[in-house]
Amino acid sequence: MTNLILAALAGLPLYAVFCLARPTKACRRCGGWGSKPGRRSRSARRHCRRCDGTGQRFRVPARVVYRVRGAWRRHAWLTARAAERAAGGPGEREQVPQ
Ligand SMILES: [Zn+2]
Repeated sequence: MTNLILAALAGLPLYAVFCLARPTKACRRCGGWGSKPGRRSRSARRHCRRCDGTGQRFRVPARVVYRVRGAWRRHAWLTARAAERAAGGPGEREQVPQ
């Protein structure tokens, strides 16, 4: 059991690097085709909604990284805006009557 945990701990960074190198994988619903056959045998192929027709799905760690990076950027932008407002930004200075 301990060996299993150690193997998982050793494999986790490798998996993270692998996800950074190849963040997408073929959609399992449509097998990377972007569309799937209709219900009846001779009906038209249908647009795959799971991958939105791209045939690619982002791996779970890649999605988490993307979400965290977006949150960081929003936070940095809001912090910068608040600091600018506190310091009296260039936009406010123009409105001050002389
Ligand atoms: Zn798909």
